Amino acid sequence: MNTQNSQKLFQEAQKYIVGGVNSPVRAFKSVGGIPIFIKKGEGAYIIDEDGNKYLDFIQSWGPLIFGHCDKDIENSICQAVQNGTSFGAPTAIETELAKEVLELFPYLDKIRFVSSGTEATMSAIRVARGVSGKDDIIKFKGCYHGHSDSLLVSAGSGAVTFGTPSSPGVPADFTKHTLLADYNDIDSVKKCFEAGNVGCVIIEPIAGNMSLVPADKEFLLELKALCKENGAILIFDEVMSGFRASLKGSYGLLGIEADIVTFGKVIGGGMPVGAFAGKAEIMRQLSPEGPIYQAGTLSGNPVAMSAGLASLKKLKSNENLYTELQTKAETLMAGFASIAKENNIPFHYNVRGSMFGFFFNDKLPKNFDDVCAGDEERYAKFHSEMLKRGFYFAPSAYETGFICSAMSGADIEKSIDAFSEVAKAL
Ligand SMILES: *Cc1c(COP(=O)(O)O)cnc(C)c1O
Repeated sequence: MNTQNSQKLFQEAQKYIVGGVNSPVRAFKSVGGIPIFIKKGEGAYIIDEDGNKYLDFIQSWGPLIFGHCDKDIENSICQAVQNGTSFGAPTAIETELAKEVLELFPYLDKIRFVSSGTEATMSAIRVARGVSGKDDIIKFKGCYHGHSDSLLVSAGSGAVTFGTPSSPGVPADFTKHTLLADYNDIDSVKKCFEAGNVGCVIIEPIAGNMSLVPADKEFLLELKALCKENGAILIFDEVMSGFRASLKGSYGLLGIEADIVTFGKVIGGGMPVGAFAGKAEIMRQLSPEGPIYQAGTLSGNPVAMSAGLASLKKLKSNENLYTELQTKAETLMAGFASIAKENNIPFHYNVRGSMFGFFFNDKLPKNFDDVCAGDEERYAKFHSEMLKRGFYFAPSAYETGFICSAMSGADIEKSIDAFSEVAKAL
């Protein structure tokens, strides 16, 4: 495979852009090799600057559930642009998208749109702290909620894990309010509640940032009960799983109601949109109704809203979509699993709707420590060998894979065939 143009472009980019990329995972550091520079997308495929074509299992890290260049989304964006790209004033389309989202979650009353998932979770936590009047929050190891200061934490030392900054530049004074618990482990949550004055718990109910590790229903129910007991607000971060694991995210699969839910990715149909929604008594504390401040020049941007609206309407009108996507994801993973078995490669996987995650591990992971026991070197090899054959998987073992509606049964079969070649060398 010739990647000369990508190599040249990457060298040029590195002269001007830090690391040559605008988000670190794109640099391929954990799998080796150089990043592919994308020229364009076509349904389930992307084409790079050297003309190579890849079946895309990243789909912009989730947003593109209909694949690249979906005509309905494209048309609605073009129409919106013709009326002006931004006003910083209310537009009717914001209410339309708000209605579409809230209709799916009847227990949520009000929503606010922002421009990224990071903004959504950061603002949701501010609201939760403001409403509960307590500073400490609980976060789970292996869950990702964007890059705001109080969420960039790793486990500190000692029996109870008050967070320590996982990045230079984050004051320890900020992260000391973030307590870290283990995913799917209710005792670790109880310890955090005992150790701090906790006003908020944030969790991905279907964790998609340590590959794919769904929370047990029982665990989430106990977590909800603990929040209630302790006067803490429960935030479900469904930036990835919302409109992906099912039309209603984890709520569609488990029926558990959080106090605040955050959205992103699919909600913007490929444009920058995030959102957080909650019950009226919580959301009315937010400015301008209440005293908790949050704002954004481009929040509710009409072009981005129109992409989100087209995307959501299309999702709602395709009743069987998630079953079809899940069947494809299952077929892919079951195919990989049987090939791995033939080759004596330890392999486990999870599927939720259009999301899949697999592990070169001896057992199916339930938490971050389990995930970390996986064979990263083997993943790196898998990644580069599949890439060479025209299959674009995430350049990190800690990411979820995505099926889009433009992927055909033949695409899935081709991927399984390619893995049967690759597996022999793993
Ligand atoms: C992607 C993601 C975020 C951050 O969203 P950005 O748009 O990248 O800021 C937050 N939470 C979860 C669960 C995510 O998957």
